[in-house]
Amino acid sequence: MNPAEATLAEQPVMQRAARESYRVARAAATGEEILAWAETVVEMEQEATASHWPLTACGPGCAHCCHIPVEVSPVEVTILHRASCLLPGYEERVRASASADAEGRVACPLLVANRCVAYAARPAACRGENSTSAEECAQPRGSHHYYGEVRMLSRSVIGGATIAFGERGLDVRPLLLRRALAEVAHLPPDEPLERWLAGEVLFSPASRMPYGRRVKSMLLQISRRKTQLT
Ligand code: SF4
Repeated sequence: MNPAEATLAEQPVMQRAARESYRVARAAATGEEILAWAETVVEMEQEATASHWPLTACGPGCAHCCHIPVEVSPVEVTILHRASCLLPGYEERVRASASADAEGRVACPLLVANRCVAYAARPAACRGENSTSAEECAQPRGSHHYYGEVRMLSRSVIGGATIAFGERGLDVRPLLLRRALAEVAHLPPDEPLERWLAGEVLFSPASRMPYGRRVKSMLLQISRRKTQLT
């Protein structure tokens, strides 16, 4: 185990992050408070994983992982939309990406010139994605060498919030990013977040991810940890 792995493994950082994300998400009643929750979880992740990133192959201009399906929660889609929808060409890119062949690699509509135009607002799945081999990332099956703790941390924070939002009756079903963005692309920046927060189901079944083995396992872990959140 390298020093960075040891740093995360030795601390109950994931439980702390899930608990804090749950606590802040449960109390967030307005759009501004939801955005504050998002900032809180990003800061927690950045602080906890800072020592890992220099050891990865990830860096500016490398965007292999922005061509694979990204699973997001509804609240993350509304935050991404808010951050990106006024950028030039946004709606056209989103619609083109949503209708692209789902079998092959498809560029995320927020990827422009190999950079994420919504980097500060990118979802947990993207924040946790990492690899120690860019060569492997270029292969069809992607990289098998990465820091699992970094991925798990991002899942922990979104998992804690998913429980909180779900308890409040808000839609938390996982979505495919490029299809979900297309469903709200025509709306003004704040509208999807406000409507989601009011309890509306904004996304159709066509945008939902099937509950695969990975999601089921994550939900199982979350339910086991639930008693540790409150
Ligand atoms: S949201 Fe940004 S980081 Fe995530 S896949 Fe899209 S371009 Fe890449």
